[in-house]
Amino acid sequence: MQDLLTGFRRIHLCHQPTPLEEMPRLTASLGGPRLWIKRDDCTGLATGGNKTRKLEFLMAAAHDAGADMIVTQGAVQSNHVRQTAAAAAKLGMKCHALLERRVPNTGAGYERTGNVLFDQMFGTTIEFRPPGLDMNAEAQAVTDRLRDEGNKPYFIPGGGSNEIGALGYVASAQEILHQINAMNIDLKLLVVATGSAGTQAGLVAGFHAHGCDIPIMGISVRQPHDIQVENVYRLAVKTAALLTDKPLGRDHVLVDDGYVGEGYGIPTDGTIAATNALASHEGILLDPVYSGKGMAGLIGRIGNGDISKDGDVIFLHTGGAVSLFAYEDQFGSSTAAE
Ligand SMILES: *Cc1c(COP(=O)(O)O)cnc(C)c1O
Repeated sequence: MQDLLTGFRRIHLCHQPTPLEEMPRLTASLGGPRLWIKRDDCTGLATGGNKTRKLEFLMAAAHDAGADMIVTQGAVQSNHVRQTAAAAAKLGMKCHALLERRVPNTGAGYERTGNVLFDQMFGTTIEFRPPGLDMNAEAQAVTDRLRDEGNKPYFIPGGGSNEIGALGYVASAQEILHQINAMNIDLKLLVVATGSAGTQAGLVAGFHAHGCDIPIMGISVRQPHDIQVENVYRLAVKTAALLTDKPLGRDHVLVDDGYVGEGYGIPTDGTIAATNALASHEGILLDPVYSGKGMAGLIGRIGNGDISKDGDVIFLHTGGAVSLFAYEDQFGSSTAAE
Protein backbone atom coordinates (compact mmCIF):
# COMPACT_ATOMS: atom_id res chain seq x y z
CA MET A 1 0.00 0.00 0.00
CA GLN A 2 1.35 3.38 -1.01
CA ASP A 3 1.99 5.91 1.79
CA LEU A 4 0.14 9.02 0.62
CA LEU A 5 1.75 11.24 3.27
CA THR A 6 5.41 11.11 2.25
CA GLY A 7 5.27 14.57 0.65
CA PHE A 8 3.87 16.37 3.69
CA ARG A 9 5.93 18.10 6.39
CA ARG A 10 5.50 16.47 9.77
CA ILE A 11 7.13 16.61 13.21
CA HIS A 12 7.30 13.33 15.09
CA LEU A 13 5.19 13.54 18.28
CA CYS A 14 3.12 10.37 18.28
CA HIS A 15 3.70 6.75 19.29
CA GLN A 16 2.67 4.91 16.15
CA PRO A 17 1.32 2.60 14.94
CA THR A 18 -1.09 2.50 17.85
CA PRO A 19 -2.28 -1.01 18.79
CA LEU A 20 -5.42 -2.58 17.35
CA GLU A 21 -6.75 -4.84 20.10
CA GLU A 22 -9.61 -7.29 20.33
CA MET A 23 -12.35 -6.78 22.96
CA PRO A 24 -13.47 -10.38 23.63
CA ARG A 25 -15.34 -9.75 26.88
CA LEU A 26 -17.33 -6.81 25.51
CA THR A 27 -18.05 -8.84 22.34
CA ALA A 28 -19.35 -11.76 24.45
CA SER A 29 -21.50 -9.48 26.61
CA LEU A 30 -23.21 -8.07 23.49
CA GLY A 31 -23.39 -11.38 21.59
CA GLY A 32 -21.29 -10.07 18.67
CA PRO A 33 -20.14 -8.69 16.22
CA ARG A 34 -16.41 -9.21 16.87
CA LEU A 35 -15.30 -5.90 18.39
CA TRP A 36 -11.87 -4.31 18.12
CA ILE A 37 -10.47 -1.11 19.54
CA LYS A 38 -7.92 1.10 17.80
CA ARG A 39 -5.93 2.58 20.66
CA ASP A 40 -5.48 6.22 19.61
CA ASP A 41 -5.76 6.97 23.32
CA CYS A 42 -2.20 5.58 23.37
CA THR A 43 -0.54 8.15 21.09
CA GLY A 44 1.88 8.85 23.92
CA LEU A 45 2.06 12.62 24.30
CA ALA A 46 0.86 13.80 27.73
CA THR A 47 -1.58 10.88 28.25
CA GLY A 48 -2.39 10.66 24.53
CA GLY A 49 -5.45 11.14 22.38
CA ASN A 50 -6.46 11.87 18.81
CA LYS A 51 -5.19 15.46 18.64
CA THR A 52 -1.54 14.33 18.73
CA ARG A 53 -1.78 12.88 15.22
CA LYS A 54 -3.15 16.17 13.91
CA LEU A 55 -0.46 18.13 15.73
CA GLU A 56 2.34 16.31 13.87
CA PHE A 57 1.25 18.22 10.75
CA LEU A 58 0.03 21.41 12.44
CA MET A 59 3.17 21.94 14.50
CA ALA A 60 5.29 21.42 11.36
CA ALA A 61 3.25 24.16 9.67
CA ALA A 62 3.74 26.43 12.70
CA HIS A 63 7.47 25.78 12.64
CA ASP A 64 7.67 26.52 8.90
CA ALA A 65 5.79 29.78 9.49
CA GLY A 66 8.53 30.87 11.92
CA ALA A 67 6.18 30.85 14.92
CA ASP A 68 7.40 31.00 18.52
CA MET A 69 3.90 30.69 20.01
CA ILE A 70 0.74 28.66 19.43
CA VAL A 71 -2.74 30.12 19.97
CA THR A 72 -5.70 27.76 20.11
CA GLN A 73 -9.10 27.28 21.73
CA GLY A 74 -11.45 24.69 23.17
CA ALA A 75 -13.94 23.95 25.93
CA VAL A 76 -12.57 24.16 29.49
CA GLN A 77 -11.77 20.42 29.61
CA SER A 78 -10.38 20.40 26.07
CA ASN A 79 -8.17 17.42 25.26
CA HIS A 80 -7.02 19.32 22.18
CA VAL A 81 -5.71 22.22 24.25
CA ARG A 82 -3.90 19.82 26.60
CA GLN A 83 -2.15 18.00 23.74
CA THR A 84 -1.33 21.26 21.96
CA ALA A 85 0.11 22.68 25.18
CA ALA A 86 2.31 19.59 25.59
CA ALA A 87 3.47 19.71 21.95
CA ALA A 88 4.37 23.39 22.31
CA ALA A 89 6.32 22.69 25.52
CA LYS A 90 8.18 19.82 23.84
CA LEU A 91 9.14 22.03 20.88
CA GLY A 92 10.13 25.03 23.03
CA MET A 93 7.23 27.24 21.94
CA LYS A 94 4.84 29.31 24.04
CA CYS A 95 1.16 28.39 24.08
CA HIS A 96 -1.87 30.60 24.75
CA ALA A 97 -5.34 29.03 25.03
CA LEU A 98 -8.90 30.38 25.11
CA LEU A 99 -11.20 28.12 27.11
CA GLU A 100 -14.96 28.39 26.57
CA ARG A 101 -17.23 27.77 29.56
CA ARG A 102 -19.38 25.68 27.23
CA VAL A 103 -20.69 23.11 29.70
CA PRO A 104 -23.37 24.21 32.23
CA ASN A 105 -23.58 23.12 35.90
CA THR A 106 -20.15 21.58 36.16
CA GLY A 107 -18.69 20.01 39.30
CA ALA A 108 -16.32 21.53 41.83
CA GLY A 109 -13.02 20.59 40.20
CA TYR A 110 -14.07 21.27 36.61
CA GLU A 111 -11.90 24.37 36.08
CA ARG A 112 -8.99 23.09 38.17
CA THR A 113 -8.35 19.41 37.58
CA GLY A 114 -8.02 17.03 34.60
CA ASN A 115 -6.96 18.79 31.43
CA VAL A 116 -6.83 22.25 33.04
CA LEU A 117 -4.25 21.07 35.59
CA PHE A 118 -2.08 19.70 32.77
CA ASP A 119 -2.48 22.84 30.61
CA GLN A 120 -1.04 24.82 33.51
CA MET A 121 1.80 22.37 34.08
CA PHE A 122 2.83 22.74 30.43
CA GLY A 123 3.11 26.50 31.00
CA THR A 124 0.13 27.50 28.85
CA THR A 125 -1.44 30.88 29.54
CA ILE A 126 -5.25 30.74 29.68
CA GLU A 127 -8.13 33.16 29.10
CA PHE A 128 -11.69 32.01 29.81
CA ARG A 129 -14.67 32.94 27.65
CA PRO A 130 -18.44 32.74 28.25
CA PRO A 131 -20.42 30.20 26.19
CA GLY A 132 -21.82 30.83 22.72
CA LEU A 133 -19.13 32.99 21.09
CA ASP A 134 -17.49 32.20 17.76
CA MET A 135 -14.40 30.79 19.48
CA ASN A 136 -12.23 30.54 16.36
CA ALA A 137 -12.94 34.22 15.66
CA GLU A 138 -12.11 35.09 19.29
CA ALA A 139 -8.85 33.17 19.10
CA GLN A 140 -7.93 34.79 15.81
CA ALA A 141 -8.48 38.25 17.32
CA VAL A 142 -6.23 37.29 20.24
CA THR A 143 -3.63 36.01 17.75
CA ASP A 144 -3.60 39.46 16.10
CA ARG A 145 -3.23 41.16 19.49
CA LEU A 146 -0.31 38.90 20.45
CA ARG A 147 1.36 39.61 17.10
CA ASP A 148 1.02 43.36 17.67
CA GLU A 149 2.70 42.82 21.05
CA GLY A 150 5.79 41.41 19.31
CA ASN A 151 5.16 37.65 19.40
CA LYS A 152 5.17 35.32 16.40
CA PRO A 153 1.91 33.46 17.06
CA TYR A 154 0.45 30.65 14.94
CA PHE A 155 -3.29 30.01 15.17
CA ILE A 156 -4.54 26.41 15.35
CA PRO A 157 -8.36 26.12 15.09
CA GLY A 158 -10.43 24.30 17.70
CA GLY A 159 -9.80 20.56 17.67
CA GLY A 160 -6.96 21.08 15.18
CA SER A 161 -9.65 20.56 12.56
CA ASN A 162 -8.51 21.95 9.25
CA GLU A 163 -7.14 20.05 6.26
CA ILE A 164 -3.60 20.13 7.68
CA GLY A 165 -4.67 18.55 10.97
CA ALA A 166 -6.97 16.06 9.27
CA LEU A 167 -3.91 14.56 7.56
CA GLY A 168 -3.19 13.01 10.96
CA TYR A 169 -6.31 10.91 10.48
CA VAL A 170 -5.27 9.97 6.98
CA ALA A 171 -2.25 8.48 8.77
CA SER A 172 -4.52 6.62 11.18
CA ALA A 173 -6.67 5.36 8.27
CA GLN A 174 -3.54 3.98 6.60
CA GLU A 175 -2.49 2.23 9.81
CA ILE A 176 -5.93 0.66 10.12
CA LEU A 177 -5.81 -0.59 6.50
CA HIS A 178 -2.39 -2.17 7.16
CA GLN A 179 -3.53 -3.75 10.41
CA ILE A 180 -6.79 -5.27 9.14
CA ASN A 181 -4.88 -6.74 6.24
CA ALA A 182 -2.08 -8.17 8.40
CA MET A 183 -4.51 -9.48 11.05
CA ASN A 184 -7.12 -10.89 8.62
CA ILE A 185 -9.88 -8.72 10.04
CA ASP A 186 -13.11 -8.71 8.02
CA LEU A 187 -13.89 -5.06 8.75
CA LYS A 188 -17.53 -4.11 8.18
CA LEU A 189 -17.62 -0.77 10.00
CA LEU A 190 -15.44 1.77 11.81
CA VAL A 191 -17.11 3.76 14.61
CA VAL A 192 -15.74 7.01 16.07
CA ALA A 193 -16.95 9.95 18.15
CA THR A 194 -17.19 13.13 16.05
CA GLY A 195 -16.92 16.71 17.31
CA SER A 196 -14.92 19.35 15.44
CA ALA A 197 -14.97 16.88 12.51
CA GLY A 198 -11.25 16.55 11.68
CA THR A 199 -10.93 12.98 12.86
CA GLN A 200 -13.81 11.57 10.83
CA ALA A 201 -12.93 13.79 7.84
CA GLY A 202 -9.34 12.50 7.78
CA LEU A 203 -10.49 8.88 8.08
CA VAL A 204 -13.03 9.34 5.27
CA ALA A 205 -10.44 11.05 3.06
CA GLY A 206 -7.84 8.36 3.81
CA PHE A 207 -10.12 5.41 3.05
CA HIS A 208 -11.40 7.14 -0.08
CA ALA A 209 -7.92 7.93 -1.39
CA HIS A 210 -7.02 4.25 -1.00
CA GLY A 211 -10.18 3.12 -2.79
CA CYS A 212 -11.58 1.53 0.37
CA ASP A 213 -15.34 1.86 0.85
CA ILE A 214 -15.71 0.38 4.34
CA PRO A 215 -18.23 2.69 6.07
CA ILE A 216 -17.21 5.04 8.88
CA MET A 217 -19.94 5.96 11.37
CA GLY A 218 -19.46 9.18 13.34
CA ILE A 219 -21.34 9.39 16.65
CA SER A 220 -22.01 13.09 17.17
CA VAL A 221 -21.13 14.56 20.56
CA ARG A 222 -22.66 17.98 19.91
CA GLN A 223 -24.26 18.88 16.57
CA PRO A 224 -27.46 17.61 14.98
CA HIS A 225 -27.13 15.19 12.04
CA ASP A 226 -27.33 17.57 9.06
CA ILE A 227 -24.89 20.12 10.48
CA GLN A 228 -22.36 17.45 11.45
CA VAL A 229 -22.57 15.71 8.05
CA GLU A 230 -21.93 19.07 6.39
CA ASN A 231 -18.98 19.88 8.70
CA VAL A 232 -17.35 16.48 8.16
CA TYR A 233 -18.05 16.42 4.41
CA ARG A 234 -16.68 19.91 3.77
CA LEU A 235 -13.42 19.11 5.55
CA ALA A 236 -13.16 15.60 4.05
CA VAL A 237 -13.41 17.09 0.53
CA LYS A 238 -10.61 19.60 1.27
CA THR A 239 -8.44 16.88 2.80
CA ALA A 240 -9.06 14.37 0.02
CA ALA A 241 -8.14 17.03 -2.56
CA LEU A 242 -4.59 17.01 -1.13
CA LEU A 243 -4.35 13.26 -1.85
CA THR A 244 -6.36 12.33 -4.93
CA ASP A 245 -8.28 13.69 -7.92
CA LYS A 246 -11.18 11.26 -7.39
CA PRO A 247 -14.36 13.14 -6.33
CA LEU A 248 -15.66 12.29 -2.86
CA GLY A 249 -19.42 11.68 -2.54
CA ARG A 250 -21.42 12.94 0.40
CA ASP A 251 -22.65 9.36 0.98
CA HIS A 252 -19.21 8.57 2.49
CA VAL A 253 -20.15 10.62 5.56
CA LEU A 254 -22.36 8.78 8.05
CA VAL A 255 -23.42 10.43 11.32
CA ASP A 256 -25.71 9.31 14.15
CA ASP A 257 -26.82 12.18 16.40
CA GLY A 258 -28.92 10.00 18.71
CA TYR A 259 -26.40 9.88 21.58
CA VAL A 260 -25.74 13.60 22.24
CA GLY A 261 -28.28 13.81 25.06
CA GLU A 262 -28.69 17.25 26.61
CA GLY A 263 -25.60 18.64 24.92
CA TYR A 264 -21.85 18.85 24.60
CA GLY A 265 -19.99 17.72 27.69
CA ILE A 266 -23.09 16.44 29.48
CA PRO A 267 -22.87 12.66 29.85
CA THR A 268 -26.13 10.70 29.43
CA ASP A 269 -27.00 7.56 31.39
CA GLY A 270 -25.91 5.66 28.26
CA THR A 271 -22.54 7.47 28.25
CA ILE A 272 -21.95 6.49 31.86
CA ALA A 273 -23.10 2.90 31.31
CA ALA A 274 -20.87 2.50 28.23
CA THR A 275 -17.87 3.99 30.05
CA ASN A 276 -18.38 1.70 33.01
CA ALA A 277 -18.87 -1.31 30.68
CA LEU A 278 -15.49 -0.73 29.02
CA ALA A 279 -13.83 -0.29 32.40
CA SER A 280 -15.34 -3.46 33.89
CA HIS A 281 -15.11 -5.70 30.80
CA GLU A 282 -11.86 -4.60 29.18
CA GLY A 283 -9.95 -2.48 31.71
CA ILE A 284 -10.10 0.45 29.28
CA LEU A 285 -10.90 4.04 30.28
CA LEU A 286 -13.14 6.03 27.95
CA ASP A 287 -14.12 9.66 28.58
CA PRO A 288 -17.40 11.40 29.50
CA VAL A 289 -17.49 13.88 26.58
CA TYR A 290 -16.46 11.95 23.45
CA SER A 291 -15.46 8.30 23.54
CA GLY A 292 -18.12 7.41 26.15
CA LYS A 293 -20.81 8.81 23.84
CA GLY A 294 -19.17 7.11 20.86
CA MET A 295 -19.24 3.77 22.67
CA ALA A 296 -22.84 4.35 23.77
CA GLY A 297 -23.58 4.78 20.05
CA LEU A 298 -21.81 1.56 19.10
CA ILE A 299 -23.57 -0.44 21.83
CA GLY A 300 -26.93 1.20 21.04
CA ARG A 301 -26.66 0.50 17.31
CA ILE A 302 -25.76 -3.15 17.94
CA GLY A 303 -28.72 -3.39 20.32
CA ASN A 304 -31.24 -1.99 17.86
CA GLY A 305 -29.93 -4.07 14.94
CA ASP A 306 -28.46 -1.17 12.91
CA ILE A 307 -25.07 -2.90 13.21
CA SER A 308 -25.11 -6.50 12.04
CA LYS A 309 -23.64 -9.22 14.27
CA ASP A 310 -21.54 -10.66 11.41
CA GLY A 311 -17.95 -9.72 10.77
CA ASP A 312 -15.69 -7.30 12.60
CA VAL A 313 -16.23 -3.76 13.85
CA ILE A 314 -13.52 -1.35 15.03
CA PHE A 315 -14.14 1.37 17.60
CA LEU A 316 -11.57 4.15 17.36
CA HIS A 317 -10.64 5.21 20.90
CA THR A 318 -9.82 8.91 20.65
CA GLY A 319 -8.62 9.31 24.27
CA GLY A 320 -9.77 11.85 26.85
CA ALA A 321 -9.86 9.81 30.08
CA VAL A 322 -8.03 12.63 31.88
CA SER A 323 -11.30 14.58 32.00
CA LEU A 324 -12.91 11.82 34.12
CA PHE A 325 -11.34 13.61 37.11
CA ALA A 326 -13.42 16.69 36.29
CA TYR A 327 -16.57 14.49 36.30
CA GLU A 328 -15.74 12.69 39.52
CA ASP A 329 -19.23 13.22 40.93
CA GLN A 330 -20.78 11.32 38.00
CA PHE A 331 -18.25 8.46 37.74
CA GLY A 332 -17.31 7.96 41.38
CA SER A 333 -17.84 4.89 43.57
CA SER A 334 -21.55 5.57 44.07
CA THR A 335 -22.33 5.13 40.36
CA ALA A 336 -19.81 2.29 39.84
CA ALA A 337 -21.42 0.26 42.67
CA GLU A 338 -24.90 0.35 41.16
C1 LIG B 1 -11.50 16.06 20.07
C2 LIG B 1 -11.91 14.70 20.48
C3 LIG B 1 -12.77 13.92 19.68
C4 LIG B 1 -13.42 14.42 18.44
O1 LIG B 1 -12.53 14.57 17.37
P1 LIG B 1 -12.83 15.70 16.29
O2 LIG B 1 -11.69 15.61 15.35
O3 LIG B 1 -12.89 16.99 17.05
O4 LIG B 1 -14.13 15.38 15.66
C5 LIG B 1 -13.09 12.65 20.11
N1 LIG B 1 -12.60 12.17 21.27
C6 LIG B 1 -11.80 12.88 22.06
C7 LIG B 1 -11.35 12.28 23.33
C8 LIG B 1 -11.41 14.17 21.70
O5 LIG B 1 -10.62 14.88 22.50
